[in-house]
Amino acid sequence: MSSDKARQETRFQGVGVSPGLARGTIHVVRDDGDEVARHRIQAGDIPNEIGRFEAALIQTRAQILEMQERIAESIGAKDAGIFDAHLLVVEDRTLIDEVLRKLEADLCNVEFVFQEVATHYADTLSKIDDPYLRERALDIQDVTRRVVRNLLGKAPKSFLALTERHILVAHNITPSDTATMNRKYVLGLATDLGSRTSHTAIMSRSLGIPAIVGLHDATEKLESGQQVLLDGYSGLLILDPTPETLWHYGELEHRKGQVAEQLTGLRETKSTTRDGRHIVLSANIELPDDVEAAPRNGAEGIGLYRTEFLYLNRTTLPSEEEQYATYRKVAEQVRPHPLIIRTFDLGGDKVAGAVDSGDELNPFMGERAIRFCLEHPDMFKAQLRAIIRASAVGNVKIMFPMISGLEELRRALACLEECKAELEREGQAFNRETEVGAMIEIPSAAISAERLAREVDFFSIGTNDLIQYAIAVDRVNERIAHLYEPTHPAVLHLLKMVADAAHTHGIWVGVCGEMAGDLALVPLLLGLGMDELSVGASLVPRVKRAVQSLTHTECQQLVTELLELDTSSAILGRCTEMAQKHYADLLG
Ligand code: PEP
Ligand code: MG
Repeated sequence: MSSDKARQETRFQGVGVSPGLARGTIHVVRDDGDEVARHRIQAGDIPNEIGRFEAALIQTRAQILEMQERIAESIGAKDAGIFDAHLLVVEDRTLIDEVLRKLEADLCNVEFVFQEVATHYADTLSKIDDPYLRERALDIQDVTRRVVRNLLGKAPKSFLALTERHILVAHNITPSDTATMNRKYVLGLATDLGSRTSHTAIMSRSLGIPAIVGLHDATEKLESGQQVLLDGYSGLLILDPTPETLWHYGELEHRKGQVAEQLTGLRETKSTTRDGRHIVLSANIELPDDVEAAPRNGAEGIGLYRTEFLYLNRTTLPSEEEQYATYRKVAEQVRPHPLIIRTFDLGGDKVAGAVDSGDELNPFMGERAIRFCLEHPDMFKAQLRAIIRASAVGNVKIMFPMISGLEELRRALACLEECKAELEREGQAFNRETEVGAMIEIPSAAISAERLAREVDFFSIGTNDLIQYAIAVDRVNERIAHLYEPTHPAVLHLLKMVADAAHTHGIWVGVCGEMAGDLALVPLLLGLGMDELSVGASLVPRVKRAVQSLTHTECQQLVTELLELDTSSAILGRCTEMAQKHYADLLG
């Protein structure tokens, strides 16, 4: 008989973004500040540590000044004044002298010493009952994080090196974290921040790791070592689950296991509707290692290879040769199926250590993706050459992210032609018929789709961004996640414009954003005439079952009806009804 205490459980509600159940011990990562490891140094290392510290302070000062200048220009000098307090922190003699003194006394790495001193400083100020001093404590915390980040360069965080199976609970997980995380030890993921299309969600779905985002303050309330049950279907994180809860979940697991077994049987089958329309069903990958999950789940190739992950967590740029070796290997693994390689989509929340992207106020609308590549032609051309060369050995297709209009597309195509001409002169082998596509993820591109369709071989719709830009809802901000509506009537019209434009000009069109893996919305995408859906590998079997359960004619009729509806909820409601009619067991 369990004690009363053991019977208590605590539930945290977030958004379930990757289906599945996980049970185990949690590891809580609070923020970057918790991540500084302590290690001993020799007395002879002190000058070097002081040199690193000074360089980090100078770098931090320059970053603050730059931010201040930019804010002064864009918002006004008054708002920029908040950074004066930040500058005072990097110039604070008492703080700096204390770090130097402690460095000699403790003989350990300077980032650890600095963090300890600065945190003590901030804690002392925050306890004084004076609003001005409490503000200063926040300034110190802010600047501390920046200095520590500069000291560490882009060093991996310590949780990335964990070697025991655990459920990771973090404030946020960045793309660069996941690029180096030891994924086989991660049973589940739970984050305070994020929404369905945030990076954590996308990555966990492609790896088949159950995940919850948008838990708000779970990292504040949980401790490493506690036992939880994570329900990636409904978004519940349950601390110390009671025997009743465990029994309930045991049943659920059993039922889901039966569905999973049926789904495994679909691996070799085709994703064709009941009335004979074949939809190409492919998988999205981030790293070359992810590729083996595609055939295992019955995908027909790779619809989106997010190559920017090659750039994360390293301090040098990958050379053409290195990229060629990587793309070639992946193309060989995927052939005869297509491998759609997307050129770098750096920027936004994907920041590369070797590339100076600066601090931007609106990174998702900043120098991102194709904009960045066109400004850095050497880097862009090295990638294009590597991709074209890989086309000699596999069914490679190229696509450009974040195309906003025709001129930008033409500039990218010109760069590609230049590379092909160079390779031709050098006598390198490649496939001259390599298909080239444009991602449609900016409303201006959707509205210009007729023009763009004349110049490419295919479109791939990036709904994650298209929705965020169309409704002006930041895709990673959990506070407004409820406003992020894939079934907004305006989104539906944009999708229709793109599909119709593609078909008018005889090119194929796919969807590689997360909307393609939303089972309730498969009827809508089929009805719009999408030729391809590309989803996280673990979702492929479910989407295949959905496609096989529907008829294209019924989906087309549904879309005719949906186009007359006025609200997101009405559209979603009708789609869900149809999904429930045909494959209720796969939903929820
Ligand atoms: C998208 O925007 O839908 C997309 C597939 O690209 P990413 O999620 O990498 O921005
Ligand atoms: Mg995108």
